[in-house]
Amino acid sequence: MESKDRVQLIVAPAMGLLFENPLHRLGAMTILSGPGNTVAQAQLIRDLGVSCVFGVPSYLLHLVEKLEGETSVKKVVTLGENLTESMRRRLERMWNVEVYNDYGSTGLCAGFLDCREHCGCHVFSDNFLVETVDPKTGEPTDDKGELVFTTLYREGSPLVRYRTGDIVRVERDRCGCGRTSPRLFFEGRIGDMVKIKGSAVYPTTLKDTMFSIEPVSNFQFVVSREGSLDVLLVRVEANRPSEALRAEIEERVKAACNVTPTVEFVPPGSLSRERKTRYFVDLRQDAYAICPRARMYGNFVPGSRRTPS
Ligand SMILES: [Zn+2]
Repeated sequence: MESKDRVQLIVAPAMGLLFENPLHRLGAMTILSGPGNTVAQAQLIRDLGVSCVFGVPSYLLHLVEKLEGETSVKKVVTLGENLTESMRRRLERMWNVEVYNDYGSTGLCAGFLDCREHCGCHVFSDNFLVETVDPKTGEPTDDKGELVFTTLYREGSPLVRYRTGDIVRVERDRCGCGRTSPRLFFEGRIGDMVKIKGSAVYPTTLKDTMFSIEPVSNFQFVVSREGSLDVLLVRVEANRPSEALRAEIEERVKAACNVTPTVEFVPPGSLSRERKTRYFVDLRQDAYAICPRARMYGNFVPGSRRTPS
């Protein structure tokens, strides 16, 4: 980032403010445009000659489809959602930009960017101590496990061995850019793994698989139960739906998670993509997701599969 950059922050205001101050210090112009409202976002990019965009990757994939022709954008920073490698490649190709990933934690009030090598997000190791632990036992592990942070200089609200709930791999060798700080590779959230027909399925893996199938422009997995059987449905928006594409999706998803999905092609634009796309919906657990407070009133909590049982 340079002082001549014009940076559009397509994120919630609280997150945007985290970046606005350092960007101002650098001398860059910032536009805190908030999430959603795709037409206005595209207009701002064009009218102000924006050179760098910060945003959620699934939303940026939606936005780039609305931007016709070349734009002034040269760099994109993704945050707020896991960026898989196939998403990165797709964004770079569709927008002709360089994509940088950010690992951030709200509890930590900090974000860590990858560098020009795009080989993990660099932690500021003079400010943060990084460890990994076994998520079940809390015992230290060999740089793969639940990410744990300790702040070294923070006053007022220090964090000591703060457990993030994120599963990461940490690499500590020298990066190609010359930095020697630890680099984080996000691998998933604790509790993200679901069982479908007895197989362990990771939504991040399914997301990466679907974005690597070129004609697929958007999708949503829905798990439900018919009788005692699990059913995996994938709704797909595609440029050219065909039986060959259906067969490819079935084969690739089966290879990724050992479950063959039912593929349903839906009209382009029918799956919501404002703000952050919901790529995975588990209706089995929704039916039983009663949070402790709602349980008292006998209310179901729709749409949540993180609710404790
Ligand atoms: Zn580096």
